[in-house]
Amino acid sequence: MEDIKDCSIIKIKDSVDLFLNDDHYLMVYYMNTRQRKSFRINDSMVNLLQTIDGKKSVKEIVDIMLNEHEVEEEQTRSVIEMLYSHKILTPVMTEQSFLTAEEVDRYTRQINYFSEFSGSEIDGLKAQKKLFDSHIAVFGCGAVGGNIAVQLAMAGVGSFTLYDDDFVEVSDAARHIYYDENSIGEKKVNALKRELLSINSKINVETVDNYMHPDSDVNSIITDSDFIINTLDEPYIGYTSAKISRLCVKHNKPHYIAGGFDAHLASTGELIIPYITPCVECYASHFKVALKDWKPKKHPVIDRFRDIGGLASMSLFSSSFASIEIVKYLTGITDINQSFKIRGEFLFHDMSLKYLNLRKDPDCKVCGKGAPE
Ligand SMILES: [Zn+2]
Repeated sequence: MEDIKDCSIIKIKDSVDLFLNDDHYLMVYYMNTRQRKSFRINDSMVNLLQTIDGKKSVKEIVDIMLNEHEVEEEQTRSVIEMLYSHKILTPVMTEQSFLTAEEVDRYTRQINYFSEFSGSEIDGLKAQKKLFDSHIAVFGCGAVGGNIAVQLAMAGVGSFTLYDDDFVEVSDAARHIYYDENSIGEKKVNALKRELLSINSKINVETVDNYMHPDSDVNSIITDSDFIINTLDEPYIGYTSAKISRLCVKHNKPHYIAGGFDAHLASTGELIIPYITPCVECYASHFKVALKDWKPKKHPVIDRFRDIGGLASMSLFSSSFASIEIVKYLTGITDINQSFKIRGEFLFHDMSLKYLNLRKDPDCKVCGKGAPE
């Protein structure tokens, strides 16, 4: 019990519900992870649970159990230890130096959520602090990239670099929750920066008003960031994703490829953790093999301009899915190396979600054996 000392004030975690079943079993329901556990219980344990009120220290509780309920000190301590090891109780945060009271108040539900996965309330606060300290680069401030930035700002991410040279058009007001009629004609990076600062005036936002050319040097943006998101579909998403993923693997930076609505309508995107999950080149090799027998016929219609359809809610779905994965990665509350998802697609007509079955290519020339040292 490294976090629990005699002077620690302890309480039952906010995210845990407790029920008594026939007075013999304690049913524990973990509301965030949806787990259930049950324990045999006796009257002494019921008394102990009633004594743990978030105001008394371990020492006070041990004394009350001894003096009022004749329970030996060792026995009380071992039950407290058992409740702690099962993530049922936590030390109450009284004083800590890394978050202000205002910050704890603002993010209290998130901290509660994180703490159920990670252990104690202190671990939940540490996870929140990791978000404050994170710097995210967002290439492409469209319906997916911009909405990811908005959600990460809401989650408390402290620094952003936004990269896009596009202007807000009238159709953007129908597809983005952060561009409205007043933004039309404005640079997307400026309109999105204003939105992020309206969510949290304390965050740092840098903007880069550039088009992605083959010789555009984005190395320093990538090395200065903890996590990189690419949704730039100009000149086209395949090109920008290959370029950014290659640089991110080189600098060992986790990244998310989430744009390209023309090829898939509501993609869950690709979380890429270099050398663990497939990189963009691994996906490209996969499709080269999977589509080797597909021979394009001549297009019967020439010079067509096509704007692929979609609903704002579908890009919000993609951006929300990506944001959850990114928050999991940045906070480290789950072992994402074991639980990541490969690219999937949500289908509107039957509400299904289908994932590709793909693993990292061991011979990949970017992240595999063939990669330059
Ligand atoms: Zn690869």
